[in-house]
Amino acid sequence: MSARRWGLWVILCLAVGGAGIGRMAILESAERDAARSVSEAYDCHHEPELRAIRANGDLIRPLHPRKRPGRPGDWLDENFEPGQSFHFYHSDDPNRPNDRHTTFYIQPLADFSPTQMRLVETTAELLGCWYSVPVKILDPIRLDPIPDSAQHISPNHGGVQLLTAYLLDRLRERRPDDAVAVLALTPLDLWPNKPGWGHVIGQASLHDRVGVWSLFRMGNPETEYETCLRRTLKTAVHESGHMFGIQHCVAYECGMNGSNDKDEGDLRPLWFCADDEMKVWWAFGADPARRYEQLIAFADAHGLAPEARVWRASARALGPTGKKSASVQFPIEN
Ligand SMILES: [Zn+2]
Ligand SMILES: [Zn+2]
Repeated sequence: MSARRWGLWVILCLAVGGAGIGRMAILESAERDAARSVSEAYDCHHEPELRAIRANGDLIRPLHPRKRPGRPGDWLDENFEPGQSFHFYHSDDPNRPNDRHTTFYIQPLADFSPTQMRLVETTAELLGCWYSVPVKILDPIRLDPIPDSAQHISPNHGGVQLLTAYLLDRLRERRPDDAVAVLALTPLDLWPNKPGWGHVIGQASLHDRVGVWSLFRMGNPETEYETCLRRTLKTAVHESGHMFGIQHCVAYECGMNGSNDKDEGDLRPLWFCADDEMKVWWAFGADPARRYEQLIAFADAHGLAPEARVWRASARALGPTGKKSASVQFPIEN
């Protein structure tokens, strides 16, 4: 499915769908693997660049465990998703940097406390390492007063929720010409104006290259900063991954796994599996070894020990030039 046809795509939402279909997705993985081998052969025959990306992907693949079956109520227990191969991804012409769209923008929406602003700045730092593009933080947009038409009162907590369609319109109007994506962060709760939905964590318009997500449910950064930081970073790479056309991962434990609630999101790793790393390397023309150097430095600087271990293991698996190393023996610990 083309990203353009997805139009306005609600993401990280409360799930709807029949129980059990996620398990079908897992069972279909063998068929996908067979299809993958055909597309892999095509890529390797036709494109040296793709062959190099696949070779490096295969070096880090053993580091990543396969996706656990969904527990009752998990995203994959309630949503059927077929997964997205690397071949499908690069063949689908996803949004990615080009001569005109060179810069990733972060847009603060509404007022942030100094600690929340630290989260925004750290998120911008990670996204710069993740996508190997310049990341700029725009001046905050004040939302005071919020038009009545852009507000909803939550029946759950009684506070104001912002309508995502209103925010996406505002972002589209102000989007810089050179933006490959504009991602807005807000401390306020979001609502997608859909009956039966209590809230959304985020929503994006892939066609317009704008998205918004909320820090409202990430915890209290004043009392649990590390938890808040990890949740915010996970949301940032997951949601921006969607904006660059990466769909949910159903094959591995991966930052692109869908999640139904905070508990499931907390179990999801920050890092991407080999298939989704390959998508990032290709879409952003990234040097995998250089990128891991930057990710390790970021993780060390911000006390993200499990993430630093995984990215160190990935760097060692690639070897100094991306060629095959003697052995891959670095288990991932969460
Ligand atoms: Zn998602
Ligand atoms: Zn993945």
